[in-house]
Amino acid sequence: MSAKANLRDLGSDELEALVRELGFDRYRANQIFRWVHRQRALSFEEMTDLSKDLRAKLAERAEVRTLEIDLEQISKDGTRKYRLRTHDGRMIETVLIPAKDARNETEDDSLNDDEESDAEVKAVPEHLENALFPRRAKLTQCVSSQVGCALDCNFCATAQLGFGRQLSPGEILDQVYLAQKIVAALPPDDPTRRAGGDTISNLVFMGMGEPLHNYKNVMSAIATLVSAHGSHFSRRRITVSTAGLVPGIQKFAQEATRVNLAVSLNATTDEVRDEVMPINRKWNIAALLDAVRQIPLERRRRVTFEYVLLAGVNDSAADAVRLGKLLRGIPSKVNLIAFNPHPGAPYGRPAAAHVREFQSLVQAQGLAVYVRASRGDDIAAACGQLANQATELVTLRT
Ligand code: SF4
Repeated sequence: MSAKANLRDLGSDELEALVRELGFDRYRANQIFRWVHRQRALSFEEMTDLSKDLRAKLAERAEVRTLEIDLEQISKDGTRKYRLRTHDGRMIETVLIPAKDARNETEDDSLNDDEESDAEVKAVPEHLENALFPRRAKLTQCVSSQVGCALDCNFCATAQLGFGRQLSPGEILDQVYLAQKIVAALPPDDPTRRAGGDTISNLVFMGMGEPLHNYKNVMSAIATLVSAHGSHFSRRRITVSTAGLVPGIQKFAQEATRVNLAVSLNATTDEVRDEVMPINRKWNIAALLDAVRQIPLERRRRVTFEYVLLAGVNDSAADAVRLGKLLRGIPSKVNLIAFNPHPGAPYGRPAAAHVREFQSLVQAQGLAVYVRASRGDDIAAACGQLANQATELVTLRT
């Protein structure tokens, strides 16, 4: 394994420190940053506006490492899943989810807009929807933050892998860079591009791992993604999802510029949540919601609550009523996801009619609630299904 630093791991401050250590002016760091994160240079030879001397010195200390595509799977709905190999032979996954998005929102009120895509059920008759809401393409990338995961959510395929290691900022960024390159090279009639457009529009940290458990690296990668010298990605189109790591949420609340937050709730009583998401034994529902309430939200921003419906476990009428009570006073929306079965999972998927019924009951509590249709479940790319399998398995987490 190389002892050299991966240039993609270094934020602007770290690059500046390196450049100064090598005896060069700090402005050189900006040039290098742009080469690495905007031009996506893979070698020092490409960095033509740097002196030969600086390039030689940099090459002694650093290199640009990238992920390799180990497997590509394409779903009939245009969803694409990539198994990626790290430099030390670990496997992670990222998923591209195309969706036509129906609504008339402006950029400013594209609330947690990354998740509003997937075939949300709207209270508008289908035959009127196209006329009322102009459709626009949307391509969401689900990004991994860790190799495997240390948490043990009972409904999640990734949990079965256990924890491997943290992904570095460069490995997180490289998932996005790879995906951007892939999408840019797709022919116009490709199903992913037809349904999702020609660019990645939204990023959700909902792949493998608990992002707030890898706080520093995830935030460093996000800082690079939104940097004007990097991808200049809108922070409003980035969402970090947590299973309920309260200290991480508290830290997140202190960030000067925040992306969107999604909380994977999945139960309305501690008894059920203790079983479905063992992290609840450490930070229960009250502690979790208390931490969420402390996040200063900008105008028209909301916290998303993901709720995976597990047949007979958390999908009763009483759960729907409790959910309304729990979230009262929090600017929020709820995404309902019918559980995506995978081998070894101890839960079943509720019927579609039951999901609608649950939705109506939650709606009656005054909450904004959407049903997210499963995407890519024929390639194990749907919610709760990421487990490095090349097979019949199916989808994501919350
Ligand atoms: S749902 Fe998320 S936090 Fe829970 S085990 Fe799966 S990857 Fe980890």
